[in-house]
Amino acid sequence: MHRTAGVITVHKIIMKITQFYWLAGAGLAILTTLLFFAGKQEVAPPSRRNAVPPNIIFIFSDDHTNQAISAYGSKLTKTPNIDRIANEGAILHTNIVTNSICGPSRATLLTGKYSHLNGYKLNEKVFNVNQPVFTENLQKNGYQTAWIGKMHLGTLPNGFDYLNVLPGQGHYYNPDFINSKNEKVQYPGYVTNIITKLSMDWLAKRDESKPFFLVVGHKATHREWLPDLPDLGAYDNRTFPIPPTFYDNYEGRLAAQDQDMTIDKTMRLKEDLKVHVDYEKAGSYSRFTPEQKKAFYNYYENKVSKEFDAKKLTGKALVEWKYQRYMKDYLSVANSMDRNIGALLDYLDKSGLAKNTVVIYASDQGFYLGEHGWFDKRWIYEESLKTLFVIRYPGVIKPRTHINQIVSNIDWAPTLLNLTGTPIPSYIQGESFLPLLKGEKTNWRKQAYYHYYEFPQPHHVYPHFGIRTEQYTLARFYGPKDFWELYDIKKDPHNMHNLYGQKGYEALTADLKIKLKQEIEQYKDDEALEIMASK
Ligand code: CA
Repeated sequence: MHRTAGVITVHKIIMKITQFYWLAGAGLAILTTLLFFAGKQEVAPPSRRNAVPPNIIFIFSDDHTNQAISAYGSKLTKTPNIDRIANEGAILHTNIVTNSICGPSRATLLTGKYSHLNGYKLNEKVFNVNQPVFTENLQKNGYQTAWIGKMHLGTLPNGFDYLNVLPGQGHYYNPDFINSKNEKVQYPGYVTNIITKLSMDWLAKRDESKPFFLVVGHKATHREWLPDLPDLGAYDNRTFPIPPTFYDNYEGRLAAQDQDMTIDKTMRLKEDLKVHVDYEKAGSYSRFTPEQKKAFYNYYENKVSKEFDAKKLTGKALVEWKYQRYMKDYLSVANSMDRNIGALLDYLDKSGLAKNTVVIYASDQGFYLGEHGWFDKRWIYEESLKTLFVIRYPGVIKPRTHINQIVSNIDWAPTLLNLTGTPIPSYIQGESFLPLLKGEKTNWRKQAYYHYYEFPQPHHVYPHFGIRTEQYTLARFYGPKDFWELYDIKKDPHNMHNLYGQKGYEALTADLKIKLKQEIEQYKDDEALEIMASK
């Protein structure tokens, strides 16, 4: 589009100069020369010929995790529509996050920077809007930009032509939204359906003369996992396998011994698993319509709670019942997500947008589905360190592309800019992985850096930072206690055996510490550097 404008300008200049020389009677040779240069500019290289800037839809969910996606090999459920994006494009198997919680992950998407530089280290903070975000660069390059749904930044950032977002965590039923004018409007229905409908409405009324970037931000699958009405009881006939690490005793891992995020002790029967919920008390349920309340009461009170009372469970039987209920609720909420992604893909097909629209489905971080006995996220351990990322770009990314290299969420912003032909500003710390997606040979990083901060609330996970290489994770925990952990991911993919300080690992540890320090310096994490120097 810029190129066309440039050509028009060149033509105008040529016309004027030509007229002058024509009148002077000496224009022919000069005209030929000018046409030669103009002609050169008009012919784009073959790869760019007919290139129209692509639209981008970034579907961004909350706490949805690889272990629940069939494209990632899950046997717990089927996600045909998410799998469709992966099968028609690329799937990233080692996409790590910089700080495994909700708000900070969104701040990193917008800035392409680590939490210590964008200032959003903890949830429930306010994102600093006096810093550049990459969508401003898209706007400068002629894009219209929108974010619809969950945003979780405590404020409305710059760089968006249209905003209609949930305040904070938002509600599953009959949620409020805040628009660009800061007005609060309540929408009837289930949040995942509403976000999809609002996204389609925006697509239908957008300015068709411009390419677009749209974030479809989902609340699902965040705690407390209230399913849509058609999904109540969707997994009642299933008994899920207990993960092999479910009864982890946390030997050799001091922080894991002191956390507060187990299904056993931390997950609540009432608020999380809906056993004997008070439907009249203020909160999520007070927003229900009488029909919604009736459907929930019939399922959770008349069926689930009665079953729970009759069983009189204790000990292992109680913990495993909680795990089964957790999985049923979590996966039922995820059903709605996959269905809505399917609806959006169908819309793109029908509207003719599919051909030139990049579709991405990603989550803000990974999540524990009973591994180590946990729910929630936060740790540098594999399940929460990695996040799902699938991307489809017809004609550019070959179907069934698998990316195993280590990619980070600081790379998302530069990749999106790169996809749109927008220059990448220097403040961005990540790199575009578009060459990886295209299957072009490239030298790519062999490790990534991680730093988690939120302590002690809500789950008493010690702050820590570390490095994840292709084979190892080295982490430094600090705060209440200072110690190191080392894992061989190839031999121990669930971070069960802390090798730090064990005989035979001295040279490896020293080498990883050097690499970690290099990462800290490269990403300018002064706080971590100080902690490294202290002991
Ligand atoms: Ca999250």
